[in-house]
Amino acid sequence: LTAPGSPFAVAETPIRGVPTRIWANAPLTLRDVFVAGRAHGQKTFLVYEDERATFEAFGRATLALAADLIRGGVRPGDRVAVAMRNLPEWPVAFFAAILAGAVVTPLNAWWTGPELDHGFLDSGAGVAIVDEERWARIAERRAAYPALTRVLLARAPAAPGTESLSDIIGSVADWAGLPEGSLPEVAVGPEDVATLFYTSGTTGRSKGAIGTHRAGACGVMAHPFSAARAFLRRGEPVPVPDPAAPQRAALLSIPLFHVTGCFATLVPNLYRGGRLVMMRRWDLARALALIERERCTSAGGVPTIAFQLLDGMAAGTHDLSSLETISYGGAPAPAELVRRLRAAFPKAQPATGWGMTETSGTFTHHQGEDYVHRPDSCGPPLPVCETRAVDPEGRFLPPGEVGELWVKGPNVVAGYWNRPDADAEVMREGWLRTGDLARIDAEGFVTIVDRAKDMLIRGGENIYCGEVESVLYEHPAVVDAALVGIPHPTLGEEPGAVVAIARGAQTSEEELRAFVAARLASFKVPVRVLLHEEILPRNPNGKILKSELKKLF
Ligand code: AMP
Repeated sequence: LTAPGSPFAVAETPIRGVPTRIWANAPLTLRDVFVAGRAHGQKTFLVYEDERATFEAFGRATLALAADLIRGGVRPGDRVAVAMRNLPEWPVAFFAAILAGAVVTPLNAWWTGPELDHGFLDSGAGVAIVDEERWARIAERRAAYPALTRVLLARAPAAPGTESLSDIIGSVADWAGLPEGSLPEVAVGPEDVATLFYTSGTTGRSKGAIGTHRAGACGVMAHPFSAARAFLRRGEPVPVPDPAAPQRAALLSIPLFHVTGCFATLVPNLYRGGRLVMMRRWDLARALALIERERCTSAGGVPTIAFQLLDGMAAGTHDLSSLETISYGGAPAPAELVRRLRAAFPKAQPATGWGMTETSGTFTHHQGEDYVHRPDSCGPPLPVCETRAVDPEGRFLPPGEVGELWVKGPNVVAGYWNRPDADAEVMREGWLRTGDLARIDAEGFVTIVDRAKDMLIRGGENIYCGEVESVLYEHPAVVDAALVGIPHPTLGEEPGAVVAIARGAQTSEEELRAFVAARLASFKVPVRVLLHEEILPRNPNGKILKSELKKLF
């Protein structure tokens, strides 16, 4: 993608069949992203409730924590877990660990005990930076994590066995007064491992996707490259960004522990000097108030949020005229959504994309008029990235035919942490098998038509059926279990379970839901559980006929 050591990236991409080069100023490592971000100085970077931090203050806090981590023994390659809701301390923890050369391991804040056990044990994290709620979930279990030697507790005094993060960096208001700090002398290169984002899989247990510095830094290039291509496709010159333009502000309503929050929102905003208006969790009324107060220029995340923004616009209670982009991905978006956005927000560009944890976020990108005219597609791949539709024998299909989507590019992860079996399943000579079924047209526009993997998506959160089914199987009364998606108007799908009960056994829908709730994050708990007297219907190969079961709802 880039010449080693060069501050520029060049991407080659076919535009109307002609190979075309697009140049951009681009970082190679997440350390470069931090250095570029810090140069935005006294502009506001992080906004959370009434707390605000400039780029400079964020930089000081990050350098102070990085120095402390190194003093505490963190060495390149060590795993540092970050387990928090969206808080200003999240980006500080993330970049401090990056500057120390560590592998940041963001853990899902919705995880419960057994899921957190797996995250800590599998990653072997030696340090954890956590908020109070996550600490409450792991305090009792910590003794079972042998590698974990240090816990830093954010926004709370030190509890037994922890240190308070504020003893190192203070509260957000203190950051500007911290010493200037200096960059640790830790060499990191583009191919060094930077992150482990956990993602579930058909096997049930979540796996750490190994992200390199280069893959993470690609987040910075997605939008400018895709925008440049959109102009070039129309035969128009690419506009040069105006350095005097007012600061952009992004509403961050999706979690930072997902690649879209981290690589598609935090990383580009830090690099380009955008304000990040953080929400602890999505809440429409709060989002509308923040968009108005902060004059946010972009909002979105997943289709569910875009639908709710339409409701907010229709209510007419807030001034949302600052919005220039409404973007979403991570789940199928009906063509109707882009039409309605266009009508409700004529000034804002709708944008969408397809991506996975394994592609470090955005991989295809689609925006503005291109998107309005092809509302079913999630756009062409980013420059340098490649896509193929592939048949079950591994043959590449011609344009227009539906096959499994395989992808290749600098933002694709290097594999899974300690899981050569999973690598062997999805990695094919540099290609990643995505488990999505897609059609790719002659111009490279990708349309996702279905999923080959056994998964449903609730409001942007993936729920892997195998994971929930294996928990149901642990219940003594259950002899057969299947999880299916129940259609939902704004969430897309919700989980519903059909279980077969052992002869003579006693249980109930409530009991089974409570059983799952004690073991898995709440978004994975089936909203309905249908009890079935017989074994579930199967095809001749023994696969449960989920399409039949869906009809039961
Ligand atoms: P995750 O690893 O959690 O980001 O989930 C990745 C999966 O989300 C993909 O493999 C798809 O199944 C789904 N997904 C992501 N973006 C889209 C999209 N634009 N349309 C349909 N499905 C999507």
